[in-house]
Amino acid sequence: MFLQFLGTGPAGAIPRAGHTDAACMDARKGGKSRRRRSAAFLISKETVLLIDAGPDILEQLQKARPQKIDAVLLTHVHADATAGLPLLDHWAGSMGFATKLPILTDAATARRLRVHYPHLDYLQFVPIKPFDRIQIGDQDILPFPVIHGDVPTYGYRFGKALAFASDANDLPARSRRALKHIPVLILDGAFFFFQKRLPSHLTTDETIEWGQRLGVKQLIVTQIGHTYPPHHKAVTAVRSYMNMHGMKTPAVRLAYDGLRVSITPRSLHRP
Ligand SMILES: [Zn+2]
Ligand SMILES: [Zn+2]
Repeated sequence: MFLQFLGTGPAGAIPRAGHTDAACMDARKGGKSRRRRSAAFLISKETVLLIDAGPDILEQLQKARPQKIDAVLLTHVHADATAGLPLLDHWAGSMGFATKLPILTDAATARRLRVHYPHLDYLQFVPIKPFDRIQIGDQDILPFPVIHGDVPTYGYRFGKALAFASDANDLPARSRRALKHIPVLILDGAFFFFQKRLPSHLTTDETIEWGQRLGVKQLIVTQIGHTYPPHHKAVTAVRSYMNMHGMKTPAVRLAYDGLRVSITPRSLHRP
């Protein structure tokens, strides 16, 4: 199976109108500094799962051209994760699926979204509960709560292979246990090293620290915002940081839109 990043950017995407920071300037040339709102596909032999549906979802679906989506997993209610639901509804309608597209989220978030978007004809909210495993196709999904300011927010663990938490500033104790030694962890790292701008997200160094504490093999940083330099410089900075601190694990990558991460039996094997 593989995970494909559709968007790896912050709530306002990169570039943002009027911004003259290095990331936004570089993003205007196209390339890896250009980041849409966070979303990802997890694709296995039988199953296609979409994580989040922000305002860029139509562009993201048109690029990825999935033949089906079995379910959508929402992380939280913020607009950068959910404002694309009406667009997704339209898309699902035009694909002519036999059943409504399940949108997995907690009951409180579903209630809020129904108020925001009362006319979703082809989507159906399916309630999730913390640590209540759900089976969809060949995927065993564990929703785990994360702290993201004061908004109820979830990450998702897929089997024992991979976990995804794009919006988080802390992990509750039980979620930490659920993520211990997960081979591949995709985690919020919204702000570049030591440049914390909001309490509700992590900085690159904090994300790396989580990767170490949890003993993950591969750490992929996402939700990358405007405090980062252009992508290639950020990659070099991460490498220097790891070398400077003599850290061999986790292997740290910075996500970019379009990145595909394959989960093979080898990637599950511990070094
Ligand atoms: Zn910017
Ligand atoms: Zn958020």
